[in-house]
Amino acid sequence: MSAAPRIDLHTHSTASDGTLGPAELVRAAAESGLDVVAITDHDTTAGWAPALAALPAGLSLVRGAELSCRWYGEEPPVPLHLLAYLFDPDAPELVAELARVRAAREERGERIVALLRADGIDVSWPEILVGAAGGTVGRPHIAQALIRAGLVTTTTEAFGPDWLGERYRLPKEDIDVFRAVRLVRAAGGVPVFAHPRASRRGRIVPDELIADLAAIGLAGLEADHEDHSPAERAHVRALADELGLLVTGSSDFHGTHKTVRLGAFTTDPEAYERIVAEACGVTEVASG
Ligand code: AMP
Ligand code: ZN
Ligand code: FE
Ligand code: FE
Repeated sequence: MSAAPRIDLHTHSTASDGTLGPAELVRAAAESGLDVVAITDHDTTAGWAPALAALPAGLSLVRGAELSCRWYGEEPPVPLHLLAYLFDPDAPELVAELARVRAAREERGERIVALLRADGIDVSWPEILVGAAGGTVGRPHIAQALIRAGLVTTTTEAFGPDWLGERYRLPKEDIDVFRAVRLVRAAGGVPVFAHPRASRRGRIVPDELIADLAAIGLAGLEADHEDHSPAERAHVRALADELGLLVTGSSDFHGTHKTVRLGAFTTDPEAYERIVAEACGVTEVASG
């Protein structure tokens, strides 16, 4: 009998803030021994076509995205990430929301740069846009500018409280998380809450919100993720059990913008099969 398939359902390419191009990403996934990989760039499907075109034999590709969402139940509203799998990339309302969020990211990035420059820090917005190379702009691209300027040495340091983690952190206009879950389902996709207990990144949401999202179509929770402590992983599993949600584990690979490797965390085949079974859009798992 062959070994259980290795399934990594959360990775980023240069279509957002990863450092491997979509084609390089799928090749690296195959080289890492993965059987299934999902491409989940922030707020874009731009990496889908090049990943598909380069799909190595034996690798399955789940086309997805990680949507920048916000919960407006607290003041200030809490940012959160929703993974969306196998949705119709042409669903008009979802397409419009993604475009709006990408524009909001540019506007926020430019304001962060203005704050830095007002404090005499020599970073330039046009240069950051060049660094993002047409992909969805994020704080990791600003972190690279801080590294180039010699102000910090690592991305982790750039996300510390003196920099992009707090002092120069600004909110952006994200998608209301209830609307996002509904739009993903309406587009035939399957929504999974990314790293829901990652308290080291900032505020987290209460379990009651997750129950409310489950009631309107949330399919699952990402439990095994490097930003979750063992206690946080156990909490997510117990909550998923209680709510009848599936559980995933993923690397959230970002190339050299993070230290985590492809396949560092994986998803059980049963949970993966549930995602595929629940998807009813035009987008199918592609096999190389
Ligand atoms: P943004 O989407 O622009 O708000 O930036 C968030 C992204 O920055 C996340 O998706 C991660 O890729 C990255 N990130 C967040 N926190 C950290 C951290 N502490 N160290 C490195 N990268 C981080
Ligand atoms: Zn990212
Ligand atoms: Fe995320
Ligand atoms: Fe991510």
